[in-house]
Amino acid sequence: MSDDLLKKVISHAKEYGYIFPSSEIYDGLSATYDYGQNGSELKNNIKEYWWKSMVQMHENIVGIDASIFMHPTTWKASGHVDAFNDPLIDNKDSKKRYRADVLIEEHVEKIRQKIDKDVAKGLKRFGDDFNEEEFRKTNPNVLRNIAKIEDIEQKFKDSLGKDDLPAVKELIEELGIACPVSGSKNWTDVRQFNLMFSTEIGSLADGSSTIYLRPETAQGIFVNFLNVQKTGRMKIPFGIAQIGKAFRNEIIARQFIFRMREFEQMEMQFFVKPGTQKQWFEYWKETRIKWHKALGLGEENYRFHDHLKMAHYADAATDIEFNFPMGFKELEGVHSRTDFDLKAHEEYSGKKLQYFDPQENKSYVPYVIETSIGLDRMFLAILSNSLKEETLEDGSSRTVLALPPALAPTKAVIMPLTKKDGLPEKAMEVMNELKYDFNCQYDEKDSPGKRYRRQDALGTPYCIMIDHQTLEDNTVTIRDRDTMKQDRVSITDLRGIIGEKISFSGLLR
Ligand code: ATP
Repeated sequence: MSDDLLKKVISHAKEYGYIFPSSEIYDGLSATYDYGQNGSELKNNIKEYWWKSMVQMHENIVGIDASIFMHPTTWKASGHVDAFNDPLIDNKDSKKRYRADVLIEEHVEKIRQKIDKDVAKGLKRFGDDFNEEEFRKTNPNVLRNIAKIEDIEQKFKDSLGKDDLPAVKELIEELGIACPVSGSKNWTDVRQFNLMFSTEIGSLADGSSTIYLRPETAQGIFVNFLNVQKTGRMKIPFGIAQIGKAFRNEIIARQFIFRMREFEQMEMQFFVKPGTQKQWFEYWKETRIKWHKALGLGEENYRFHDHLKMAHYADAATDIEFNFPMGFKELEGVHSRTDFDLKAHEEYSGKKLQYFDPQENKSYVPYVIETSIGLDRMFLAILSNSLKEETLEDGSSRTVLALPPALAPTKAVIMPLTKKDGLPEKAMEVMNELKYDFNCQYDEKDSPGKRYRRQDALGTPYCIMIDHQTLEDNTVTIRDRDTMKQDRVSITDLRGIIGEKISFSGLLR
């Protein structure tokens, strides 16, 4: 069912110019995609929603745009050269490669699903009298499964913490995890694999040197911490936001744009006084989940999840998970990064990266709370959640992409009822009026019904029809994508109607 949905999303994305496989004429490159004419608009609008919520809505957050290449010592200091590894394991029969932590997490997820099934059974049996909290605390099956999960998680955390890779393999064997492709339990040893892409800078004659494509945008913020603080006269607490490409040589890149080797991140590092990090961690968890929920994709589709494998820099970390077609998966991370990064850069660069606190009359290295969201994952969350197949009253069906109007690529399509009688000219007049404020399209091909359906599938909130009456009294019909209701309004009112519907302010308030 969910596989079907993902397939539908992929083919819809291609058919309507949202996402194409990269270099398709050469049969594509695995896990690499290009955003098409509508995809790039949607992506830009998501960026705008994020940027406004961070930079425009917080007087103490500013944005930067650092380069992808950085001095190679950056990645030594950040720990990525030594510790940005995934534990990988191969199945000897299928020759398929997996991330050991993912195999274990998927196993744990199956146990969680068993618990949910037991809960659902309880609900069916006891109906309104069912007390879910009590049931989870007392039902023997549920308790046994919870204990199982805790045991696995503890063992896994301990083994990784000690870098004990044979113990990770033992755990996989002990749990009886089989390869989903071959069904066999014939595994290789677990090895660590560094995820950074490297390349050479300069010509060999000049003495070339290895540099990395950044695996996260965050380090561009840390190395600019003092530049921004001083030139922006920023007072702690303050944040620096950035949107940009990141690259990771993922062992298994799959599930469409969910996991790619080249992707985009929207990250914000918030610098705080040491000792206040817990409070700011909670603040950003709440602020970020509110930002997500404001889009109206359904509150039940989000949950927090603490990661088993804490990154090397964090003292607290949570994921905001979204209910993707493949199930609940990480969409965003909120991390308390301590003073790990700034301290490490001080050490490796020999430069002070401290803040002078005028109230305390002393200098210190700030602590950092980070919010980090994958733009492509956000795109997939919105696209998959918005794609709907509706049955209409007359029994026919329609495909509608119910995108949040503020994010829709095209806000209104202007259509002449027919291609004659001066209607196209009038439609172009309306289009030329509106195009300064909104991304509009003109469409005169096919019957009105067909044109409406096409715009429903593209996610356009409004269709504006120019007919013969328009020539007489300057009114048009405006059709709403979601209700399919048509209203006759004056051309002069269009800007106000569309503007209200697509404004970001309702989402940001
Ligand atoms: P995962 O556990 O899924 O590999 P992660 O915990 O390594 O993710 P972070 O390092 O916290 O991810 O990166 C922050 C965000 O960047 C993630 O929440 C995700 O939205 C996005 N992201 C990370 N890796 C990828 C990828 N390969 N493709 C697309 N987005 C990604």
